[in-house]
Amino acid sequence: MLHGYGGYVLRVDLTTGGTKREKTDPAYVMRAIGGRGLNSWRLYDELKRDADPLSEENMLLIGVGPLTGTLLSTSAYTTISGKSPMTGILGDSAAGGFFGPELKQAGYDQIIITGRAEKPCYLFIADDFVEVRDASHLWGKDIWETTSAIRKECSDNAIQVAAIGPAGENLVRYATVACNNSRMFGRSGMGCLFGSKKLKAVAVRGKGRLSVSDPLGFMDLCRELDRRIMDHPEYERRKALGSTLLMKALHGIGILPTNHFQEGLAPYVDQVSGERLAEIYKVKNKACYNCNIHCSRYYITEDGESEGPEFETLCSYSSRIGNDDLRFALKMNAFLNRMGVDSLSSGETIGWAMECVQRGLLGRDDFEGLDFTWGNRETIEKLLHMIVYRQGIGDLFAEGTRHLARHYGKGTEEYAFHVKGLDMICGDPRGLKAFGLTYAIASRGADHLRAEPFFELTERYEESERRFGTRDAADRLSDNGKAVLVEYTERQALLTDCLTMCKNVGLSMDILDFEFAAGLLRTGTGLKFTEGKVNEALRGVIDAERRLNIDFGVDASQDTLPGRFTREPLREGPSKGNVVPIEKMVKEYYRLRGWDDDGVPK
Ligand code: SF4
Repeated sequence: MLHGYGGYVLRVDLTTGGTKREKTDPAYVMRAIGGRGLNSWRLYDELKRDADPLSEENMLLIGVGPLTGTLLSTSAYTTISGKSPMTGILGDSAAGGFFGPELKQAGYDQIIITGRAEKPCYLFIADDFVEVRDASHLWGKDIWETTSAIRKECSDNAIQVAAIGPAGENLVRYATVACNNSRMFGRSGMGCLFGSKKLKAVAVRGKGRLSVSDPLGFMDLCRELDRRIMDHPEYERRKALGSTLLMKALHGIGILPTNHFQEGLAPYVDQVSGERLAEIYKVKNKACYNCNIHCSRYYITEDGESEGPEFETLCSYSSRIGNDDLRFALKMNAFLNRMGVDSLSSGETIGWAMECVQRGLLGRDDFEGLDFTWGNRETIEKLLHMIVYRQGIGDLFAEGTRHLARHYGKGTEEYAFHVKGLDMICGDPRGLKAFGLTYAIASRGADHLRAEPFFELTERYEESERRFGTRDAADRLSDNGKAVLVEYTERQALLTDCLTMCKNVGLSMDILDFEFAAGLLRTGTGLKFTEGKVNEALRGVIDAERRLNIDFGVDASQDTLPGRFTREPLREGPSKGNVVPIEKMVKEYYRLRGWDDDGVPK
């Protein structure tokens, strides 16, 4: 008997409406583990490489891990993958909440969706009962309305729903999927992929029980993980502020994106900080399944209520675009949550337009009269509505910054900050060299979550020497020792994705190591996972993702950063004078990864 895993893979062809259950193959999961690993191998093995991301041929995969839904803290996550409509390369995104555990309780490790429905539909799963249902009456509804409508028509408030909003329906390239209303599968356009298949939602109810192979051994390790979480020096702050604690932290070291990365200091940071949000607007904390941190914050303002925002959204809609009004940023967060729009990619289109106007490259005439001066709230609000419904220039903005800059030309490409088509996150790499390397090499484009090497901020030099063979890995401004750090944390990040744990725990708190994970997997599944086997599987997934991307047209020339970060030193603050010598770091990373000089796995 296969413990830990749900036991089945569900295949759904939306063109025919046909569904099929297959048994999960133990040999397959030994090399993929679960979650993102399972999805990436499936794409590698089955996706036609030249499939148009919006075509019937593209695959939409929903994967969970062997420990999802167990008593392991934060085992709450789900990964959605496919060929990204945003970038044309590997796309995936993970979110917490309660959807993944419910899918596991229904008996599934992965859903593989292909084809395209003729009219809007949603997939309904209740254990082994699976049905493709009409969703014409849901089309046009926002994510919150969709979730409650499905629960109401099924007369079951415990049904877990992953849904898209109008942005996904209208094929905004960076549309999101959300479960539990505000848990966003945010990056790389998985909501657009749902929309292209006319899939409004997946609704799941599972009444099965999960089993683990060695309950007592597994519980001991779960308790040990709880202890590591509760004893962590950042536990209380993460609980109070979530990732918004980074607003003041990044400002403090001069790398908080301000006016589209022109500065790393926002003089008004106290007005838009996580602390201020918690003090004025937060009404309660919320948590994902089996999490003892409950870092998410529910808030109410004069404009309404919503959940979040995470740091990336707060920064994208405050300092990055020159807005010093917290209440407005929260209003935009609520809108993006309901409509299903990625805050980072939409924020980058706005920042790009504002900088192009500041530099005189574009003006009101190029934007149907909209005034893109820094922080112009009226323009931002109006534009977001136009993007969601693809009205006027919103139709262009809905294609993403890379496309926008190519369309307008006139040197505006220089200010489109993306890697491989995915927009930059909010952390200026000039003062975070290992993060810079991560953005350059990440398999889904500019992305911190593929490695999140927070260790470089610790200044724990002796530990750095012991773990990475160099003191420089703990020095954020040094470009030495960063490839070895990223090679390690990239495996650690993938491990959390495969176990479908929260990265706040596995990665940011740095409390999940490979030996410990092997113990969890062994006691959880009964399969012969060892530290060596776990690392072999992780390296295999990283190589498979790279090969897949090479097949999609990625080459070494794209493993880089936008010119601002490699050529223009920061002008003020504690990171002043720094740029990222990315080429040297990438070469070293290739060598440590065992790839050739062109970044091809040997
Ligand atoms: S730390 Fe926050 S995001 Fe992570 S599982 Fe807990 S509540 Fe969810």
